[in-house]
Amino acid sequence: SKRSGSHGWRLHDDSMTDRRTRDATVTDALLQALDTDQLRVVYQPLVVLDTHRPVAVEALLRWQHPQLGSIPPTEFIPIAENAGLIHRIGMTVLRESCAQVQRWRTEIPDLRQFHASVNVSALQLREPTFLADVEGVLAETGLPADRLVLEITESAIVDEDVAVPVLEELRAKGVKVAVDDFGTGYSSLHKLTRLPVDVLKIDRSFVAELDGTSRGAAVAEAVIRLSQVLGLRTVAEGVETAVQATELQMLGCSVAQGYLFAKPMPAEEFTAFAAASRVV
Ligand code: C2E
Ligand code: CA
Ligand code: CA
Ligand code: CA
Repeated sequence: SKRSGSHGWRLHDDSMTDRRTRDATVTDALLQALDTDQLRVVYQPLVVLDTHRPVAVEALLRWQHPQLGSIPPTEFIPIAENAGLIHRIGMTVLRESCAQVQRWRTEIPDLRQFHASVNVSALQLREPTFLADVEGVLAETGLPADRLVLEITESAIVDEDVAVPVLEELRAKGVKVAVDDFGTGYSSLHKLTRLPVDVLKIDRSFVAELDGTSRGAAVAEAVIRLSQVLGLRTVAEGVETAVQATELQMLGCSVAQGYLFAKPMPAEEFTAFAAASRVV
């Protein structure tokens, strides 16, 4: 109840309550969603800028609730983390996307270099069974370890002493590690040189600044140079315009992802996308 508009704190109080109610509703709904198959994985291609050929797909979760409608992952992933459900959800995405990518690898001759890129929450890395679970999925689906990329945010890698040994073990098996949203976290560049990673993903906020000016290119260029010096690969995310794609290419970034090439799509649609992107 908003008794008085002049009491700002009251309005704040109400919205806090609304927030909690919504979170509780979504948590309950999420428990049901897991049992009723409302969660779907969609796939966004990562393409080579030179050829537009897909080299990987990123698996992204979608949730369509019968009453609440479509709930974005930016809302339900944090709730899943708080409710202790992220490990279960994360493993479901991993299993489904590894199986799907392995199917494409065996069915589509062009996709020899193909990888599955899967988001992993910081909490998953702390799960004692995580390493064994990932190995289990690889064994079960037949996807070679070096065809799997785990996308982990910078803060998850840097903040936790737990994360580094886990990532080192995964990399020893051949699994690749990408730092997601690079540049948006708080890690020092000094720490980065010691992190067990293979790929830096340039956050789309920096890609959005690419406007043809050198000032606009400053951060993207710095990230690409840093990657090169450290022997890492760079992937640009959120590429929406041809200007951005051209500029990234000139700066030395060879792989990108974004609406310019394709939006995330259901598995059935990807086959047609892959066929259309073949160089004749
Ligand atoms: P993210 O990992 O940074 O994923 C990229 C997001 O950017 C996706 O949003 C994607 O749809 C969107 N995107 C791709 N290209 C463009 C573009 O050209 N322009 C714009 N404006 N956006 C673009 P989405 O699918 O809504 O996912 C949001 C976030 O939710 C992800 O950010 C990731 O942090 C999280 N997420 C999604 N699926 C999973 C999952 O299975 N597990 C975990 N732990 N997190 C997930
Ligand atoms: Ca990601
Ligand atoms: Ca990202
Ligand atoms: Ca992002």
